[in-house]
Amino acid sequence: MTTALSSVRTTSPSPDWAPFRVALQTQRADCVDQRTLALSETVTSVPDAVALGRAAILLRTIEEIDAALDRMDAGTYGACLHCGSAIPPERLELRPFAAGCVICPQAS
Ligand SMILES: [Zn+2]
Repeated sequence: MTTALSSVRTTSPSPDWAPFRVALQTQRADCVDQRTLALSETVTSVPDAVALGRAAILLRTIEEIDAALDRMDAGTYGACLHCGSAIPPERLELRPFAAGCVICPQAS
């Protein structure tokens, strides 16, 4: 009877992240659309370095969003990948796919 507590963790996703999940999915769909557009520009005209660069940046953002959604499923979303401390909510609102807190230097 007292062992029930230990099994709760794995099956209860944090409901607080629901709006962030929606934001991530919306942002991802937007990035995919923009990237498709950018790539179509590189196909139909003379290879456009600006469009290619934009497509590459968008792909990176899509990958960051996917990683954030994976972390959400794994239950590690909202924690800095580098130091493990909680990422401030206001940072996640601006950049829901942020993988690190404001203190840790970003790889980019
Ligand atoms: Zn950190």
